[in-house]
Amino acid sequence: MKLICIGRNYAAHIEELENERPQEPVVFMKPDSAILPKEQDFYIPEFSTDIHYEVEVLVKIKKVGKHIAQQFAHTYYDEIGLGIDFTARDLQSQLKAKGLPWEKAKGFDGSAVVGKWIQKEKYENIDKLGFSLLKNGENVQNGNTSLMLWKIDELIAHVSTYFMLKKGDILFTGTPSGVGKVSPNDYLVGTLEGEQVFEINVR
Ligand code: ZN
Repeated sequence: MKLICIGRNYAAHIEELENERPQEPVVFMKPDSAILPKEQDFYIPEFSTDIHYEVEVLVKIKKVGKHIAQQFAHTYYDEIGLGIDFTARDLQSQLKAKGLPWEKAKGFDGSAVVGKWIQKEKYENIDKLGFSLLKNGENVQNGNTSLMLWKIDELIAHVSTYFMLKKGDILFTGTPSGVGKVSPNDYLVGTLEGEQVFEINVR
């Protein structure tokens, strides 16, 4: 399986990193080895001194598909989740400056936190989901899927133009503003529509 990630999908986050607003979704991948095993602590890797959390809504793909039309995209998933796209911001900035791929900064071991999955039927409208990240009890990121530049079904249509989606693939839909650094002993909690869906200890 693969992790397909979207960058720059919330206007306020584009501004905080002083990035350009893209004409179409920014897409990158993480390998399946990036998934942080359940119940395991996140260890800050030795190659970075500036690991950032990015809380993101996740979508689990349930069947194979390519060139999926936006109007049928909703038939390709039943479960919604929340996770973290951990990013070595120092390394990413160096790579970006040289125009090089981001994989080392985005796809390293443990860089993908995948929280509890929730049936989408539970929600009235997946394009109006509130979510947040708490660091040591303080609310550091607040988002709502209504603020996405490209909504979930648009993202599925777009990425499936390039990559065949397979059962079990996970879409990371981009982070809202408020990204920041983690330090050893930080405790992170993610909530989706007020429900706690993951907790992570940073080492
Ligand atoms: Zn991200």
